[in-house]
Amino acid sequence: MDIAENIDQLQQELAPSGCKLIAVSKTKPISTLMEAYEAGVRDFGENKVQEMVSKYEQMPKDIRWHMVGHLQRNKVKYIAPFVHLIHSVDSIRLLEEINKQGAKNNRTISCLLQAHIAEEESKFGFSDEEIFQLIRDETIQHLKYVKIVGVMGMASFTPNETQVHQEFEHLKLLFEALKHNDDLPDQIRMEEISMGMSGDYRIAIEEGSTMVRIGTTIFGERNYHQ
Ligand SMILES: *Cc1c(COP(=O)(O)O)cnc(C)c1O
Repeated sequence: MDIAENIDQLQQELAPSGCKLIAVSKTKPISTLMEAYEAGVRDFGENKVQEMVSKYEQMPKDIRWHMVGHLQRNKVKYIAPFVHLIHSVDSIRLLEEINKQGAKNNRTISCLLQAHIAEEESKFGFSDEEIFQLIRDETIQHLKYVKIVGVMGMASFTPNETQVHQEFEHLKLLFEALKHNDDLPDQIRMEEISMGMSGDYRIAIEEGSTMVRIGTTIFGERNYHQ
């Protein structure tokens, strides 16, 4: 695997759309992350709190750390001091905990609402209806230490490209509907659509992604047993 070359190739593909690259480095060692860092990557994505904290401590401090995996409320406190963007907010209670930890650290924490766009049952995320409920919920008005800056979604894992197109298009339409909603609370400003992984990022870009989360295409297959 030539990590620098993979990154360079991806950056060239992303350039015309201005879509940002989040290098998903979960399970990979520091030495591997440093190769990506030296190739210019400053946005890294992790899906486990402990692993992200440990890497944060060891890596250069100009990195923006993205939490892309399911986040448990009792672990928010560990990443609250430094996390750049939480992509995987899937409940109001989680948002309230992020607000509480943001307040403790005196920083506003940026978040994306994870929308359930895949046909598959197993994926986390809000339904469209729940998101529209959430933005009208009075609770949101009191959360001064969170900023909702967009949406995130994962398409079905399927070779059916038409379906993947449809699922990403759905997320884009949801984003637009939220963006053009007249009475969004101050905490919500729709700017980012986080969609696209190694297997489907080209489709995601065509459908208007602003952030792709890519692991395997940069770092190679993950070995969970190492
Ligand atoms: C692991 C992961 C990715 C990256 O997946 P690849 O297929 O390796 O590119 C992206 N998003 C989330 C939420 C992930 O957990």
